[in-house]
Amino acid sequence: MHPGYLMTPGPTPIPPEVEAAMARPIVYHRGPEFQAVLERVLANLARVARTSWPVALFTASGTGAMESAVANLVAPGTPALVVSAGNFGERFAQLVDRYGGRLEHLRYEWGATPDPDEIGERARACGARVVFCTHSETSTGVVADVRAIAERVRGAGALLVVDAISSLGAVPLEQEAWGIDVVVSGSQKALMTPPGLALAAVSPAARAAAREVPTPRFYFDWERILTGQEALRTAFTPAVSLIFGLDAALRLLLADGLEAAWERSARLGRACRAGVKAMGLELFSPDEDRSAVVTAVRVPDGVDGAAVVREARRRGVTLAGGQGRLKGQIVRIGHIGFIGIDDVAAALTALEAAFAAAGADVETGLAADRARAVYADASLQAAAPSPGR
Ligand SMILES: *Cc1c(COP(=O)(O)O)cnc(C)c1O
Repeated sequence: MHPGYLMTPGPTPIPPEVEAAMARPIVYHRGPEFQAVLERVLANLARVARTSWPVALFTASGTGAMESAVANLVAPGTPALVVSAGNFGERFAQLVDRYGGRLEHLRYEWGATPDPDEIGERARACGARVVFCTHSETSTGVVADVRAIAERVRGAGALLVVDAISSLGAVPLEQEAWGIDVVVSGSQKALMTPPGLALAAVSPAARAAAREVPTPRFYFDWERILTGQEALRTAFTPAVSLIFGLDAALRLLLADGLEAAWERSARLGRACRAGVKAMGLELFSPDEDRSAVVTAVRVPDGVDGAAVVREARRRGVTLAGGQGRLKGQIVRIGHIGFIGIDDVAAALTALEAAFAAAGADVETGLAADRARAVYADASLQAAAPSPGR
């Protein structure tokens, strides 16, 4: 039986090589076999984040890595600026609030693209020690210009923490060259591994700052984790099988070079947007190459968004609805990780049928072909390189 199409922005489908690697017998995490794998995984994660800085690996979901950044950098009263334009940006605000930071919240409309100049000004005005922002806001489909944001935040003298949970490996991000102090991510999005691993790549400045931050922390203490990893000794028992899987996934991801993965994501996003437009539906996420993680489609007035998601699922395609205040208003198609143009075409075909069944006025029969044509169009790729490079 065909397993159907998992087209949510996480978890994402797992390549067979990754499944096979996870089926290996468990080994002792203090033994040489595991240490060799751990060494390679840490080196490859740094390659994917484009950094020479150390990467702390946690057995946790992505939010654990977000919490580690707050726990290690925000003490009660620490001035911290959170930039939010959707559900995941709000999460950073909640975390900073829970840890007692002096929260300055720069809140955009959900679906808006944050303005780097405004972020720099606000960071300066509130004397932020740390700025938190989201690279790919998975709840809206917007991908922020973190390169420009990093430049402004550096000018304001603050550390920058970027949630790249859904973008790392899919959208261009150069941690060290762009000067992003902390990049956090998770295993179950573009990294093609099941949920359960999270990471934080930490600059020397952020690590030094963390040593001076007197918050109570244990499991998520960067210094404990990084010191252990330097000797290839994990501080705690790691999820051994997931790390075997991540090792296989990273090798696949890097086999053709990271640029090839970024380019593929951009092409899939472009193809998906073209398919949606061919149906006569309106995009909620921006129609730009950078938004290559998830395509959000506006649900027309009078149409039940939840019914569209249910009907697509009945047709074998799992999509995501809107979160929080966007519930019922958008449908999201994820196209990161182990996804190809055939998956996107199948999702579009199910989506147009589901919209039609829900009473939306959609053009049927065109979307999949249109998506394939745009994906294959080499001239489009030459004309529209991925941004940020
Ligand atoms: C998925 C996601 C998260 C949350 O990750 P969990 O693994 O569910 O904890 C946070 N931020 C972004 C941008 C995400 O896409």
